[in-house]
Amino acid sequence: MRLFADYHTHTTYSDGRGTLAENIEAAAARGLQAVGITDHGPKGIGIGVAAPETFLAIKEEAARIALRFPEMRVLVGAETSVISRDGRLDLPEAVINKLDLLIAGLHPYYIPEKLGDAVHYTLPNLFVRARRSVWEKMRNTNTKALIGSISSYDVDIISHPNLMMPVDADELASVCAGCETALEVNTGHNYNKEEIVRAAARKGAMLAINSDAHYPHRVGDLASGAELVERLRFPAEMVINASLN
Ligand SMILES: [Zn+2]
Ligand SMILES: [Zn+2]
Repeated sequence: MRLFADYHTHTTYSDGRGTLAENIEAAAARGLQAVGITDHGPKGIGIGVAAPETFLAIKEEAARIALRFPEMRVLVGAETSVISRDGRLDLPEAVINKLDLLIAGLHPYYIPEKLGDAVHYTLPNLFVRARRSVWEKMRNTNTKALIGSISSYDVDIISHPNLMMPVDADELASVCAGCETALEVNTGHNYNKEEIVRAAARKGAMLAINSDAHYPHRVGDLASGAELVERLRFPAEMVINASLN
């Protein structure tokens, strides 16, 4: 399976170690036809961009750098965090509407805005490994939160479903299939990706294979994801960044 794009990478604007120019150069050196610059939304503790408007600055800078690489598309998006049980994302829609790509994901460390979300969503997710009953409750809460995001925003990709925060893969995949939202196979982290690929196959959801690179040398590092998807015989035409020829 040949992958022509890596839609999920981070730069020094959030918690990545490479500059915007370094990520774009790395993507071009890998021969990618498209790269997504998707820094974290502003509410992630220690990982987010300084302010929502930072994404507009990234867009301007990326447009200048992209002129040097006419063969490649540079997409500027965001990896937002789901910050409430009903699926609110940590970026205003006015900014989201100016982006090329919207990724939404569950991240355990962010600043909750409402006490109810802190008590029933943020804090229990930090302890989900502790008890089976908590794990099941949180899996349900997390799934509903992501479904809320997909229903309220035009989400292109759900980042790393199942990483640290459990989800009901079948339920999520069914909703994604109806909304043309891709589930991510993230090559930057270890978690139960097989369950996600199998659920996507059962429910007819699309996948995106992304690096989640926090260093330029990892941009386009997608081979392990391609291998997994091939091993499970997931159809290439349902992988949004796989080329069919
Ligand atoms: Zn993430
Ligand atoms: Zn990420």
